Amino acid sequence: VSEHGAPVLLVHGGAGHIPDDLVEAYLAGLRTAMDAGWAMLARGGSAVDAVEAAIVSLEDDGSFDAGRGSVLNQDGRVQLDAMIMDGASLAAGGVGAVETVRNPIRLARLVMETSPQVYLVAAGAERFAATHGLPRVDNATLVSPRERRRFEAARELAGVDPPAAPVHDTVGAVALDAEGNLASGTSTGGTTYKPVGRIGDSSIVGAGGYADNDSAAASLTGEGEAIMRLVLGKWAVDRVAAGDPPQAAADAAIGRLGARLGAHGGLIVLDRLGRTGVASNAFRMAWGVRSATRSDAVMSGSDVDRG
Ligand code: ASP
Repeated sequence: VSEHGAPVLLVHGGAGHIPDDLVEAYLAGLRTAMDAGWAMLARGGSAVDAVEAAIVSLEDDGSFDAGRGSVLNQDGRVQLDAMIMDGASLAAGGVGAVETVRNPIRLARLVMETSPQVYLVAAGAERFAATHGLPRVDNATLVSPRERRRFEAARELAGVDPPAAPVHDTVGAVALDAEGNLASGTSTGGTTYKPVGRIGDSSIVGAGGYADNDSAAASLTGEGEAIMRLVLGKWAVDRVAAGDPPQAAADAAIGRLGARLGAHGGLIVLDRLGRTGVASNAFRMAWGVRSATRSDAVMSGSDVDRG
């Protein structure tokens, strides 16, 4: 068994146009999520348990673009995408365009653990949820008044201007457990006023996240179409495999996103030694870290580009 570090949980609440009046709510939401995830790790739970618990908490918090309170698509409905990956076995589960599941990260875990498939979408994913006893909800219960207002504003602009600047408040978590296993998860409502059926990077293995005990775990946020084309989650993890510390790999990934495609985003990276990396070129990125010796929730700003 190769050397590994003590348990660490690293979470994010998205990178992008996080407005001033939501900063405190984001930081509070991250702290609650870290408490939930850390409780798992502290009692010897697995990295997958910790990632799931942290993300369920963020999905249930109406501030983030995940689960309840997510952005609305062009039909005025919430459509959710999520993925989870186990770095020990490389097992992965993804779900896309799900409308009636309150916690898509739970559904992604069910896909990972109880089906031979890796990815299920839309009606098929919802049928799978029903057969596995996951509670189903009415889409309206996932719609917040704030997002309903944003939707009305975006609809007014459609056809005149491009839709309002996409918010990037996807959530994600990566964890290292006491056994030395890594896991990664990401959950999102996608981009503001997205076309029905659009799926971004967040639920795609290798794009919005990746985990491999041999190297690192990563979770991403930002312009999904660009992140997918660069397969940026796997790219960042491969940098760690090649010898980069996680912070250098995170910086290089964001450098590539900006330089190659002129796009914005952020990511968190954690390796088997417990070393962390966080980088963003967006206006703001919300993230936090918890271990036996660290406990921080941070709203980092960027002067790279405030557009
Ligand atoms: N990456 C997400 C998506 O494209 C959006 C975000 O991170 O806010 O679906």
